Amino acid sequence: MKWRLTDRTKMLLKLELAITLPAVALMAFGIWNLKNMQRDKAIEAAIQQNFRHVLMIAQEKTWDKANELIEPARKQFPNVNEGEAKIKEDLNRILRENPQFAYAIVYDKNCHIFVGAIQPNRAHDEGFWEHAQEAIDNTASWLPLQAVSMSDHLRMMAEKDMHYEFYGEWTSRHRRHVYSNEVFFIPPGVGKDEAAMALLSFDQDYLQDKFFPAVIKDVLHSSMGLRKASNQPAIMVHTPRDSEPWVASANWDGGKPEVEYSSDEILQGMVWSIKYTGTTIAEMGAKFLHYNFTILGAISLLMIGGIFLTYRNISREMNLARLKSDFVANVSHELRTPLALIRLYAETLELGRLNSKEKYQEYFRIIREESERLSSLINNILDFSRIEAGRKEYEFKETDLSELVRSTLDTYRFQIEQNGFTFEENISKDIPPVNVDREAIARSLLNLVNNALKYSKDKKYLGVSLYRANGSVKLEVSDHGIGIPPAEQEKIFEKFYRCGDPLVHNVKGSGLGLSLVRHIVRAHGGDVKVESAPEQGSKFTIALPLTRAQRTGEAMA
Ligand code: ADP
Repeated sequence: MKWRLTDRTKMLLKLELAITLPAVALMAFGIWNLKNMQRDKAIEAAIQQNFRHVLMIAQEKTWDKANELIEPARKQFPNVNEGEAKIKEDLNRILRENPQFAYAIVYDKNCHIFVGAIQPNRAHDEGFWEHAQEAIDNTASWLPLQAVSMSDHLRMMAEKDMHYEFYGEWTSRHRRHVYSNEVFFIPPGVGKDEAAMALLSFDQDYLQDKFFPAVIKDVLHSSMGLRKASNQPAIMVHTPRDSEPWVASANWDGGKPEVEYSSDEILQGMVWSIKYTGTTIAEMGAKFLHYNFTILGAISLLMIGGIFLTYRNISREMNLARLKSDFVANVSHELRTPLALIRLYAETLELGRLNSKEKYQEYFRIIREESERLSSLINNILDFSRIEAGRKEYEFKETDLSELVRSTLDTYRFQIEQNGFTFEENISKDIPPVNVDREAIARSLLNLVNNALKYSKDKKYLGVSLYRANGSVKLEVSDHGIGIPPAEQEKIFEKFYRCGDPLVHNVKGSGLGLSLVRHIVRAHGGDVKVESAPEQGSKFTIALPLTRAQRTGEAMA
């Protein structure tokens, strides 16, 4: 057997190629991407990179601010040749005008001058004074030994427009961390080969209370871009010996710093730390991934839903297309058979060779019945096309349903009984007038009766009842025929649908009848239901609603 693709598999393949594959690829790529980010800790790395950048800015700002404080003082330093007294006086003046410094020194190897001065603004602070004096004495002990090499070094730096060198370190004194620091430069009036040195030292309290807080504030302000809606960066400076903040921004909330940087060019020994307040980078990374995974999941679900819906829609359309082509075949067949019969019997009659009157009667009856079948089929098709085009209009009129049902059945009674059917008719007497389209309701009844006749084998029974129940009028048509399997009981009301039973396919039909019945009944505000069991028979019930007045009348009765 040659293997061929059915339309359905073709459709599935196309759907697969056009929608499912790209969708799956997209989802897989999204997951792969996020997994990679998770594995490489890409988000964490990006934030750390930003933090590192902020700490670099902090270094630059420290330089700028220190420079602003050092340069004016440096330029006022006295000439080494002016004599010790004048030098001392000048140093005291400089210190008084620049309270950020703790002490100042001028040293000249040639003239054997070593002048030290302590911040006069803090003359009353004994501890401060003592510590400054100690530092000066200490410097006096090593500076003469280093002055030559240091002067050479500074001269070299001056060529690059750098006029001072900074030195700072943490020491312990009385169990306290103390920051010793000195700025070295060559004072004015020093000859080319002479070894002379000037020195300034920042007051530690000034650094802690004013200098670093100002720099930190400035840095945080200029790194606004790093702020997240709820998280702000916090910065602190601590000693290399412990991780207790020495100076911290107001929003520093403890915890482990994310990135640290030790300054090594200016104010050496300070360790800068940065983190986000209230969260860690790891937490933020996890949150970001979680959020993205959730969104990806939701989108994937939407996509799957979309694909499923598309698939369902397409297969429904395909089913309909198949049913339509069956319909065309069925209808052509249905038109042809009665026409052929009519022609055959008419021709026989025309020849006038029949010998009995009964035969003539029978042939006329067959011709009438076949033409009735033709017109009911054509009426169904016309109705159907009107409904499909949305042009079907109903003429509602107050109608006596008992009379309508009885007269419709009367025209068929003979035919029904001729076909060997037991016919039971039950019409209640209390049926109030109902607003209906006469012709449409009659056609619905005929369709149901016709089906009962068509789909019965040996147990030939037809029952029609009309009665009043639960605020509506019910019209029931039952048979003891082949029945309908439960799975198909809803589908038979769809257009073109015909049951899979082989017997059904031997019976002529278009699959339109019940869909018309349902449309008509619904247009009347009612509904049609079926109760059926295979081989047991079927019962179709049309329920037409009564008016409110009729219903309340019923309730009171
Ligand atoms: P058709 O022209 O095929 O009769 P209908 O819309 O009237 O179209 O009915 C749809 C299908 O429902 C039929 O093909 C048949 O399979 C099933 N059906 C309808 N009425 C009955 C019945 N009384 N007993 C068994 N099957 C029925």
